[in-house]
Parts: sequence; structure tokens; C-alpha cells
Amino acid sequence: MNDPMADLILTGRYLLTMDPNQTLIEEGGVAIAGDTILAVGQADALRARHPEAPVIAEPHGLIMPGLVNVHTHAAMSLFRGLADDLPLMQWLQDYIFPVEATLTGALVHQGALLSICEMIKSGTTSFCDMYLFAGEVARAASEAGMRAWIGEVLYDFPSPSYGPLENGFACTKDLLDRYRSHPLVSVTLDPHAVYTCSPELLTRLGDMARDEGTLYVIHLSENAEEVRTCRQRYGRSPVEHLEALGLLGPQVVAGHCVVLTPAEIALLAERGVKVAHCPESNLKLASGIAPVVDMLAAGIAVGLGTDGSASNNDVDLFGEMNTAAKIHKVDRMDPTVMSAATTLDAATMGGARVLGAERLIGSLEPGKKADCIVLDLDQPHLTPIYHPVSHLVYAARGSDVIHSVIGGRVVMRDRKLLTLDEAAILARAAGIGHGFRRGRNGG
Ligand SMILES: [Zn+2]
Repeated sequence: MNDPMADLILTGRYLLTMDPNQTLIEEGGVAIAGDTILAVGQADALRARHPEAPVIAEPHGLIMPGLVNVHTHAAMSLFRGLADDLPLMQWLQDYIFPVEATLTGALVHQGALLSICEMIKSGTTSFCDMYLFAGEVARAASEAGMRAWIGEVLYDFPSPSYGPLENGFACTKDLLDRYRSHPLVSVTLDPHAVYTCSPELLTRLGDMARDEGTLYVIHLSENAEEVRTCRQRYGRSPVEHLEALGLLGPQVVAGHCVVLTPAEIALLAERGVKVAHCPESNLKLASGIAPVVDMLAAGIAVGLGTDGSASNNDVDLFGEMNTAAKIHKVDRMDPTVMSAATTLDAATMGGARVLGAERLIGSLEPGKKADCIVLDLDQPHLTPIYHPVSHLVYAARGSDVIHSVIGGRVVMRDRKLLTLDEAAILARAAGIGHGFRRGRNGG
């Protein structure tokens, strides 16, 4: 029997597969060939079978699938801390939309690179991004070697990116064509929300998503005011509105879904809609607590998202897991809900399901893409270890991630980014921030 050659082997004290049984292998490893996982198993056996392959051995390491951030706006890292402690609509209309009106492609590229540095350094290997100048976000992801689902945000009013709405469709089509066969970047169709998009816009993008076979990414039922506005305008809730337009289906990735009735949860489940849960953004903007326990019970695929850095204020999914596991316990006054295992699943396989990529990523299994991270467990806050999954959700931090591999390529080794010049990106972002502070765009 001719074994394919491995190009790289990672070994560690633990290997957590996140397969359906969340199999944990002590003294485990993963063998990688090209961009694909060849085998997982005992480290000794993998080394013996592939004696020529280079090995990254981490005796105190835990190897696991890279985390999947299913809802973010990467370039908003430039607005981190610009306006805090405000209600969603005031925050958007008085601060975020005005500053976004001054954005340029160059600024979005720098902001996206900054977030990507932070994401890789905190264990994320895939992200789903909705923003302006999406081509620049895609370029940043491609340069970094990061897996991403990216869409140009469309709404009724003119965009600082493409100008009048009609150009937005052309811009989206162009993006779809450019990335059709890219190994890491997929393009999505992104209406902003029901309160910023006419029924015609929502429907036209829905038709495009069906024709192109792409995801349809939208903010949905984020807070009570959105529901109230939608009812006033259309006599229906946001979920009922999309249903009436025939838009609810398995291609929909709905961000937030905080305000839902039991009937709406049942409808989302029936239509196969996927949900991006963004607990820290929902807490910070006082939007509420999404009924994730009920959504999971109804069989809805739920992934974790950080939302943009201006409403979180970071893109560290380890922090997001910690928050997600805890808020649902206090919301239900039941410490047994949203267990560590359930929460870790949402940040890995759940995220993969939300993006329709469960056969590609989310777990370490032969044949899947080699997206994996290694954490250093030899630290005060992670010692001793009874249940690794518990530590990952309740004690670990993004900064515990020391190595990251995306599509078989080592993008971070010993916390040094190998595909990006981190010092230069930080220096440029600091300069851009200085410009915003002085009321210029700095670009
Ligand atoms: Zn968002």
C-alpha cells in the first residue's frame, strides 16, 4: 500500500478533533499533505509512517481545529473605542455611518489586515465578513493566507464604496467572478438589514444568491427597535418580512437574531436558516440575549461571531466563547445550559455548518482542509488539566495560541506571523487612528 507523503506533522500533549464525538487523543498529532489533513492519531505512529516529514512538536501543546468567526466587519478595527456606551441606532447613525462615509479602499485594506493579525493571533482561521470595499477585505485575507467568506454590504442609500446602489450589483458580480476559484476566499451576497434595504433590494440579492449558489448574509432581528420599525413600515416582524418575500432558506446566514418569538424560531429551523450569534456585541449595545438555547434545541445551526471591533471591542473568539457559555446560564438561571462542549462546537463545527462548509473545516478529520491551531497549556491559568474542553471555554485566552496552520500553510509560528508584517500593519493603523482623531481620514 502506497501511503501519500505528509508535508508536515504537528504533535502535542492533546489532539482534540471536534469530530461528532469530540474525540481527544493524548500524545496525538495530525499529518498534513498539501492543504489537506492526511491522518490524525497517535504522534508516534504518525512520525513512524512519515519519517521524512518535518515535525512541529509541542510537548505541552493542545492541537485543535482553527476557530470560525461567522460574523464580523474586520476593517472596523480602525473604529475600536471611537464611540462606546451608546444605543445601536444612535451608535450607527451618529458615529459609525458618518465615519464610514469617509472610508477609502486603502483604509479598509489596512483595517482588515489589522483584524486579521488579531484573528490569527487569537486562534481564528476562518471568518465571514460583511463590509464596504469588500474587494479590499478579500485582498487582505488572500495576502494573509486566511480562509474567508466576504461580501460587499448593500443598502438603499449611496455607498462610500461603489456610489449609487446600481453599481453595488456590478461590484458584487465583479467580486464573484474574481474569486470564483480561489482556494481560500468565497464571496457572499450581503444586504445590510431589513431597515436599510428595500424589499426590492432584498429580493434581487436573494435571486442572485440562489443563481450563484452563494450565502446570503444579513443582520436580522438584532434588537427591539429593529422589530418595531419593521412592524411600523411593513406590518410584519423582520423574520416574517423575509418569509413573506420568500427569502428564508438554507443559504441565509442571519446575524444576531436576538428578538425572536417561539414561532419564528420554529420557522427559521424549518427553512434551514443559519444563525451567527454575537453575544458580546449584543451585550455591549444592550440589544439583549439571543435565544440560542432554544434555537439549538430546534435544530438550528448556530455559530459564534464577534461582530465588528467597534461593538465588542475585539475579535478574540476565546473571549466570545467564555461570554456565550455564561450569559445563557444566567439568562435561563440554569448552569447546565450552553455547556463547554456545546459552546466549543459552536465556535468550530457550528461555524462550519453556518457557512455551509462542514465537509471542509470545523474538525480535524482526514480529507478536511488543514486548518488547525496549537495552544500552549504550560501556563498558570491552564494547570492542572481535568477536562481540556472546559479549559478551552472557561480559562484559555486567544493569546495562548502559539501556532496556526491554514490550508496546510503555517501562518503563525511561536506567535510570530509569517504571512504578514505585523509591526508595519500596527504602525499604519496607529497613524490612521491619529488621522481620525484629528477629524481627517488619515488615508
Ligand atoms: Zn454586524
